[in-house]
Amino acid sequence: MDESDSMWEKKSIAILGSTGSIGTQTLQVVEDFPEWFDVKVLTTNSNVELLADQIRRFNPEQVVVANETRAEKLKNLLGHHSVRIHSGEAALAEVVEADNIDLVMVALVGYSGLMPTIHAIRKGKAIALANKETLVVAGDLVKSLATKHQVEIYPVDSEHSAIYQCLTGEDSNGIEKIYLTASGGPFRGWKAEQLQNVTRAQALNHPNWSMGNKITIDSATMMNKGLEAIEAHWLFDLKPEQIDVIIHPQSIIHSIVQFTDGSMKAQMGLPDMRVPIVYALTAPNRLKTNFKRFSFEEISKLTFERPDPKRFINLYLAYQAMEKGGNMPCILNAANEVAVQAFLEEKIGFMGMPWIVEQSMKKITHRNDPGLDDYIQTDHETRVFAKSLITKKVDSKWK
Ligand code: NAD
Ligand code: MG
Repeated sequence: MDESDSMWEKKSIAILGSTGSIGTQTLQVVEDFPEWFDVKVLTTNSNVELLADQIRRFNPEQVVVANETRAEKLKNLLGHHSVRIHSGEAALAEVVEADNIDLVMVALVGYSGLMPTIHAIRKGKAIALANKETLVVAGDLVKSLATKHQVEIYPVDSEHSAIYQCLTGEDSNGIEKIYLTASGGPFRGWKAEQLQNVTRAQALNHPNWSMGNKITIDSATMMNKGLEAIEAHWLFDLKPEQIDVIIHPQSIIHSIVQFTDGSMKAQMGLPDMRVPIVYALTAPNRLKTNFKRFSFEEISKLTFERPDPKRFINLYLAYQAMEKGGNMPCILNAANEVAVQAFLEEKIGFMGMPWIVEQSMKKITHRNDPGLDDYIQTDHETRVFAKSLITKKVDSKWK
């Protein structure tokens, strides 16, 4: 598709979390294709310096600073500017409702993505969803709302974008199973004892992708792949046993669908998040980009191996949560968010993370058929409990 294509209408977009890894890459895409996208809304949690710069470059109508204490600073940085500045997390859910927005890119991290996504769907906006936690927390609710309001959810996560692309044109055909590929993170091949002593710096050093801190830690513990399995469960209506995980260290094959006739379709390319971002913004069309192409001379071997559930307990816990259903994935997610934050603050060790998740899954009351209020309550309760577990000694419970 090129710019002369008459099928294309310029899209007005809101980018929630525009100062993060996915947010800034989305803006790079917008900058590369100024004829295609109009930015109406940008948001940050607290990085008002970068947001001020983005406001000058992209001229949005409205912005949100979720962390209220930082909004005044943004006003000082901007001086006289016509942009409408809102503050507080609740404003995120309000700005997505503006009539002139076609598509909302949800590039927030963690639970903060849930309410804005729900509000955008209720207003009939198309969703480009990077924020996997939204589907982990309340996938049934989000999916049924999307169906009710006839809203398409375009996955941004590279694995889910791959599956989505493989399924295009296959509407009436049966899926036997899917394989989500995983790089294995920085600790692939490490022994369980070695994982005890992993430092923050080691865990933040991902071999193939440069991403925000939370997802980088989730990749190191393989919780990321567990969250992605739950994300795929909701996006593609698959049973847990239809979702398999395979380690593929080169991150070239982004995921695979196996159909009922045994045929397998894979989507591949260099690991570059701008590819799934562009696709989520323009699907089912493709833009002509100049991103670096895969070369068989540079990468001549693709390899695969099974993950070891004894070492990557989080992956096993996420499958357990998916199988239990109800609010269990919400419990898993909230406990994991608390644990990752504590690890990043060096309050607990690497293996303290799965321990906190497992304890929370045992402790918090399981509900089979939760509504939105139950999810909000579960998230809150789990955070309080998980925080109570944080001590410097958490690690020793694993020894
Ligand atoms: P990031 O930490 O780099 O950026 C997060 C953005 O959200 C920032 O703009 C931040 O200001 C904002 N934010 C953070 N906490 C907030 C809060 N409480 N309220 C409001 N705004 C808040 O994260 P990222 O790596 O861009 O990841 C975003 C989402 O995309 C995550 O759910 C992640 O799992 C998913 N994802 C990321 C990648 C990647 O390559 N980075 C790949 C696949 C999926
Ligand atoms: Mg992914």
